[in-house]
Order: sequence, then C-alpha cells, then structure tokens
Amino acid sequence: MDISKLRSVVGRVLESGDAGFDEARALWNARFDRRPDLIVRCASASDVKASIDYAREHELRLSVKGGGHSYAANSVADGGLLIDLSPMKAVRMDAEARTVTVEGGVTCAELDAATQEQGLATPTPTVSSVGVIGAALGGGSGYLSRKYGLMIDNVISAEVVTADGRRLRAASDENADLFWALRGGGGNFGVVTSLELRLHKVGPQVLSGQIMYPFDDAGDHLRFFRDFMAEAPDEFQCYPFCFRVPPIDVFPEESHGKPVLVFVLYHEDPEAAEFVQPLRELGEPILEEARLGRYVDAQTGFDANMPKGQRYVSKAHDLSGLSDGAIDTMVEFVPRMVGPLTAAYFDPLGGAVGRVDPSATPYGGRSARYGFHVIAGWMDAAEEESVLAWASEFHSAMAAHATGGVYVNLIADDETDRVSAAYGANYARLVELKQQWDPTNLFSSNFNIPPS
Ligand SMILES: Cc1cc2nc3c(=O)[nH]c(=O)nc-3n(C[C@H](O)[C@H](O)[C@H](O)COP(=O)(O)OP(=O)(O)OC[C@H]3O[C@@H](n4cnc5c(N)ncnc54)[C@H](O)[C@@H]3O)c2cc1C
Repeated sequence: MDISKLRSVVGRVLESGDAGFDEARALWNARFDRRPDLIVRCASASDVKASIDYAREHELRLSVKGGGHSYAANSVADGGLLIDLSPMKAVRMDAEARTVTVEGGVTCAELDAATQEQGLATPTPTVSSVGVIGAALGGGSGYLSRKYGLMIDNVISAEVVTADGRRLRAASDENADLFWALRGGGGNFGVVTSLELRLHKVGPQVLSGQIMYPFDDAGDHLRFFRDFMAEAPDEFQCYPFCFRVPPIDVFPEESHGKPVLVFVLYHEDPEAAEFVQPLRELGEPILEEARLGRYVDAQTGFDANMPKGQRYVSKAHDLSGLSDGAIDTMVEFVPRMVGPLTAAYFDPLGGAVGRVDPSATPYGGRSARYGFHVIAGWMDAAEEESVLAWASEFHSAMAAHATGGVYVNLIADDETDRVSAAYGANYARLVELKQQWDPTNLFSSNFNIPPS
C-alpha cells in the first residue's frame, strides 16, 4: 500500500508493529481482536477526509472508531483502514446559548466534566468512557432522557465527511435529509467529525445511589417498582439491575456470590429523598446509599462494573411495558446467571423519549416503555460457551414479552438481521438515503443499512 498518499495527515498513520498500533485497535469488548492493515489516528476533519478518500480510491475496507464501546465491535474491522477519532478531543461550549460542540474522540466523562463547570448537561450514557458521538448516532439514553429526551433529540447540527469526501454541515435547515438519517442511523451515512448538542440546567448536586435487595423477593419488588415508576416524574430515573454480588469488601460477606436486585436511582432534585423512600422500605436492604451527590459522580457510578478489556455479549429487546411475563422471566433466569461481570436490567423509557414523533428521527423505539438488556461479561475464554448459551436462552425467553424492536446500539454481533426491526417504519427511508449518500456502502462496518 502506498501510504505516502496520506502524507497530508497531521495525526499519525500506523501500521502493524508501530508503537501505539495495538492500543489504537483495542476495543472495550476484548472478545474481539481485530487487525486493520492501517490506522489513521486523525487529528482533524481534514485527516478524516484524507482517510476516507484514500480508502475509497484504494477500495479498502473502512472502519471508524470513536470511544470503542460498540458491544458488537463494529468499530474495528479486520484488514483495511481504521479511522481512529480518539485524538479529536475538542469540546467547545457556549454556556449562554446552552450549546456544546464535541469532536469525534470526546467521551461522556470529558463532556460532563466540561459542561458541569457551568451547571449544564445533556443526556448521555451512564458509563463515562463511552464515546459521545458513537452513542448519539444510534440514539443515546441515560439518566436525563426521560426529562430531556435521547441524545439524538438534543442534536442541533453535525459536521460530516461523506463517502465521496465532501465536508458538509447537517442541520434542520441544511442537508436536512442527512441530518435526519444521522440521528439514529449509526455510522452509515458519513463520519461525524463534530456534533453540536443542546444543554440543560442540571446539578451540580443531584440525588443518586443504589438500594440493594436479596433476589428472593425480586418478583414482588419489580411489580412494586412498575407501579411506582408509572407515577414517577420525568426527573426520576431508576434501573432495576440484577447481578451476582462480587466478593469484595463493599458488600457484606454473606451476600457474596448471591444474586441481587439493585435499584440504581437518579433524581434531578437533590431534595427528593422522600420521594424515593418507598423503594427503601421494600424489605431489609443489603446496601442502601441513595444520597445527595455530584451529577458527575452519578454518571460514573457504573464504570467499575463494566471494565474495558474483558469479554462481553449484549442482548436486548424493546418492551411495551413491564408485564408479569417479563418480570417472571427475569426472576427465572437471574439465579442461573453465568459470568462474573454479567448483569441484566430493565430500562424505563417513555417520558420525553416517547413524546417525540416516531418519524422525526430514525430511532424505532419511541413507543417502547421499557428496554430489556443483558450484558453478559466474563474473563476466561473457557467460560464463553456457557455464558453465551445462558444469555441466548434468556434473550429468547424474553422475546415472548417484547415488541420485536430493539435499540440499535445494543444489538449483538450475531444479530445483524435485527437492524431493520430496530428502525421499524423508518427503515425504508434510511435505505433510500443510504443509496443517495453512500451508494457503494463504503461505511459498512456498523449495523449496516445496505443501499437499495
Ligand atoms: C459499558 C457500556 C455502557 C453503555 N451504556 C449505554 C447507555 O447508558 N446508554 C446508551 O444509549 N448506550 C449505552 N451503551 C451503548 C453505546 O451507546 C454504543 O455502544 C455506542 O455506539 C458506543 O459509542 P463509541 O463511540 O464508544 O463506540 P465505537 O465502538 O467507537 O463506535 C460505535 C459505532 O459507531 C460508529 N462511530 C463512532 N463514532 C463515529 C463517528 N464520529 N462518525 C461515524 N460513525 C461513528 C462506529 O463506526 C461504530 O459502528 C453502552 C455501551 C457500553 C459498552
């Protein structure tokens, strides 16, 4: 390969054996160990354009990595050219206008740190090392979503390099079709070099924490939670999380290794202790630490549970509600959970997410009231078969209580046939736009929407 044609690149061009090559291709999900031929660690939108032009002209397989947290490892392909956006770290905020613009390598932690200096925030995922733009291109939900919507509902504009190498701005009044497609269509339509997001007044103090119960009465607790959540204001978010207690000192020794139900909660109002009191009184909690704290700490609360560099699989469904069948299925499968890093939870949606017109963005889950998600995690390759078997069986059993839809960012590597279901009625328009913006499917290392 004649890489001298990439000499305009200001960032670094790496080949196998170069210092930094292995780090640049590493993914959060270490189940996948992919080796591109070439990595361009982009420093700017011009570097991104040079890389796209080079890949197109040399007919190279192209992959694009932001934060590297794709559960299905879509962001690093074997062979071809990898565009690594992680060096692109600029965050520009206009506190008065309540907007922020982030480049392609910015993580949720970096965005929150900048915006919270002004008591502002925008909805982002609840694990802080996730890439902002990678999450936003599929939807992007977090503690703030029931109040302020998904990340895509907060996008004002995007700077994009398209498959033919053009650098364009997409917004409601400029390249409006592309703007529509980007807000949910994943990386199918171009490389987004920067994204402008709307900010809201949040924190810096909020109420957050967890209330942990033994799993024995999980069915009753989840039914209580369903009714509690139905009346809860949009400022409140709470994930009923199920996992096996790890053998560490934070947890009482008698709980080690046992399954638990943990209400991981967040309330934008730091004075809302009374509101969450009923969740504290369901029984004798193993651990209870719902308290006033910093928003940025709430946003990192899950980080330690999902460390980078282990093996994972993600399986998910959209649910129209928390039916008895869904609860009973959770109660049946959690005690048989396999994998030391495995967790399963329900994700309350609705609120502002459900109030957006379903055709306003490609995101297909506007009418879902809950998400169901299993993240099975393990370290030892020998455990792989049993973990995957348990996760698949659980996921299949939950399908009977699900809508058939799924949040695209949570699709597993072996479920690419679910992409159209993720977009539902919006899929046909996405295919048309893919034909228009990327007719040769240069951007295919993603949850792919093939051109018509
Ligand atoms: C531990 C963990 C926790 C998570 N928590 C949440 C959560 O709370 N809420 C939620 O909504 N999601 C969550 N997710 C899912 C997350 O939103 C997706 O995995 C997301 O795609 C990750 O983005 P990334 O940039 O980190 O990943 P990457 O692996 O870098 O990219 C993911 C996909 O987006 C494409 N892409 C990335 N950046 C760009 C760009 N600038 N232009 C074009 N294409 C691009 C890549 O090619 C790839 O196809 C979580 C994932 C993990 C692993």
